[in-house]
Order: sequence, then C-alpha cells, then structure tokens
Amino acid sequence: MTTLVRKQMPSPNFSSRVNTPVRLIVLHTAEGARTIEELGHYFASSTSNASSHVGADDKKNTIGEYVKRANKAWTQSNANPVSVSMELCAFASWTAAEWDKHPNMLENCARWIAEEAAYFELPITKLTPAQAQGLGKGVCQHRDLGSWGGAHHDCGDGFPIDRVLNMARGEGDSEMGYPDWFWDWSNWYLTTDRDPQHRPSAAPADIPEWAWTGVEEITKINKRFGMTSGERDWIIWLVAGKQGQRPNVPSDIPDHWWDDQKWFVKQT
Ligand SMILES: [Zn+2]
Repeated sequence: MTTLVRKQMPSPNFSSRVNTPVRLIVLHTAEGARTIEELGHYFASSTSNASSHVGADDKKNTIGEYVKRANKAWTQSNANPVSVSMELCAFASWTAAEWDKHPNMLENCARWIAEEAAYFELPITKLTPAQAQGLGKGVCQHRDLGSWGGAHHDCGDGFPIDRVLNMARGEGDSEMGYPDWFWDWSNWYLTTDRDPQHRPSAAPADIPEWAWTGVEEITKINKRFGMTSGERDWIIWLVAGKQGQRPNVPSDIPDHWWDDQKWFVKQT
C-alpha cells in the first residue's frame, strides 16, 4: 500500500496526552462536514472546542490531518488520552448502500488504520465495547466507548467495519481499491464493441460515478502522447494486480512505461 497524503490543517483544539500510551484507533462520522477542508475549517475555530486527528472524504489517497498523533484530540470525552481518531465525512444514518457509494473514503479509512496500527504497534482487531472501555488494544467505533466516551452512536449500523478492517489488513481489494468487476467491465467497455451478451455479469446495471471516473482516467492514458495500446494494456494489467494473462508486450519494459504507470497510479 502506498502512504496516504496527509493534508495539514492544524487545529488549536488539542492538549497533551501526558504520557498516556495510545491503545485505541477510533472511527467517527462527522455528522455535517462533507469534505476534509470543511471539517478542517470547523476544527480550526477555537470556539468549536472540538477536533480529531484526521478526516476522510472521497478524495483518493488523501486525508486531512488536524492534530498530530503525539497530541490528544478532543472528540471522544474520557477516551481522548488513549485514542487516535478519524472523522469520516459521513453520517451515522447512512445505509450500507450509501456507504458503498464512497469506496475512496472507506479505502482512506482502511489505509489510515493500517498506518496508525503500524505506528502505535496495535493489532487491527475489532474491539467489543467492553474491551474498548477496558484495556483492549485495537480498533473501535465511537459508539463502542459508551458513556465513558461521550455516549455517541457513530458510525451507525450501516458502516461496513468488517470490510474496512479486512482492507486495513491488506486482505481486501487490490492496490487500486477497485473491485474485480471494475476491471472486467472497463476492459469490456473500452476494448470491445460492448456486446451486451459479453457484458461482465458481476458489473452492476447502474455503473457508479467513481467507476466512470476510473474509465475516464484509463481513457486519458490511452490518449497520452506516445502511449500505445500495448502499453495501456500492460499498465492496466499491472495496477490490477497482474490478474489474468500478461499482455503481449516486451519482457523488458521501457523506462518511460514505468514513468507512465506511476503517473497513472497518481491520477487515480
Ligand atoms: Zn464520534
């Protein structure tokens, strides 16, 4: 996994952990802000009297950072000294279907969990409320902290915590975060005459917006100066995790193909 870009938007709302070790990675929904910038603006005001370490929205591979890990953020009451926290720019009332429309946000969340778990040497384990409010080490949601943590109910019943933790453990999606059907479908869409009979059956009838954006990125590559269809096929095959047959391209990949591949990963 690549390292997340952390856009710095420092909040004045923090204090010292007074040497308390971090044992909880806590997930929240922001219940208002829809972007990391909006959330940063809110936390930047001392009158809000609130903060969180980071926030996640739908921007690929980028999160907002408001409070540094070493300090205590103000978002889960008595649990603040032992927690590092993320606000998802989402609502606890979201259904599972609504969460599914935000794959980048979920991936950013998963990657952040992985980075914090590595930094604080914590297991990527889903804690029960008793463990979270006791001495457990791992990942929980704000609601698991009960009245000790301020009696909140985020991230809600629809939040796909198990899927996020699987991704954080690296057991989930490919490096790109796209599901398998996307690669089958985009290949069908871009490289065939789109015979409905050959449309990949795993692709949903309504293609979500993020998948169309993905197709646009692939199309941009295709149009890029000097890029042949062989190179494009190779890049798609590579970033999809080398699934299926290797495209018929030279075994010695030209240097500029690697550059283009890095460019592609950055764009998507
Ligand atoms: Zn919360």
